[in-house]
Amino acid sequence: MKLERVICKLAPRLSALEPGHVWLAGAGPGDAGQITLDVASALAQADAIVYDALVDASILEAAESAELHFAGKRGGKASIQQDDITALIIRLAREGKRVLRLKGGDPFVFGRGGEEAFALVQNGIPFRILPGLTAGLAGLAGAHIPATMRGINKAIILATGHAAGTDDDLDWAALAATGQPLVVYMGLKNLEIIVAALAKGGLAFSTPAAIVTSAATDKERVVTGTLETISGLARTAGLEAPALIVVGGIVSMRAELTALHRMMRAG
Ligand code: SAH
Repeated sequence: MKLERVICKLAPRLSALEPGHVWLAGAGPGDAGQITLDVASALAQADAIVYDALVDASILEAAESAELHFAGKRGGKASIQQDDITALIIRLAREGKRVLRLKGGDPFVFGRGGEEAFALVQNGIPFRILPGLTAGLAGLAGAHIPATMRGINKAIILATGHAAGTDDDLDWAALAATGQPLVVYMGLKNLEIIVAALAKGGLAFSTPAAIVTSAATDKERVVTGTLETISGLARTAGLEAPALIVVGGIVSMRAELTALHRMMRAG
């Protein structure tokens, strides 16, 4: 059956984006194949799209008629403040536009979606949350690293490395003590601090570790090593954000799954 027919069959189940309403949505980590049908439908319906830097250009190009507002960061500096973004979304909704607020990954995972939803409630703007595939899970899967694997882990920790080394930091030792794998968002620039804190917390230097950058895009790179080697490997490879740091036994599955995958493709 053709893709168009599948979509036609599903389309009547999708909701309408009403004028004056906001859909606060996640676009997944990059690949257009990883957006949801709700997001595809919102791209078709929206009059205005307010998008972040992590939303892939190919996804925005699909929205042919909407006005586009960039609300991301350039060169690591916030070019537009959170309050201004919120004010823009509210203004567009009050103008009677159908507004799609599109973020990378999932809007409620390290995406400030909570703050924006809160502001919409306070201002009486009707909204819906459309979840997306978060980079920390979809990016791992694409790199052949299972988030959970029987016999290896019973939990997975999603953490931010943004404040590593500051007074506002996480208790890395407590996280290390769980023995469960960690996926660290926004941690590349603090990689050495995070590695040192995990090792100090008792995590063995031999623990498998990986860094996945620009997951689910043409620029994706994956570097694997151990807690001991990963910082040096990342530096030598010249890795750049956006990046996920993965630490734990699940990383060791990648080598096996990748080898099998190659064999299948060759055969
Ligand atoms: N809401 C997003 C996360 C935003 S925070 C989500 O659910 O995925 C920004 C961080 O997300 C980046 O610093 C990086 O750690 C991670 N990230 C987002 N997209 C990524 C991608 N394509 N590849 C690797 N990491 C990504």
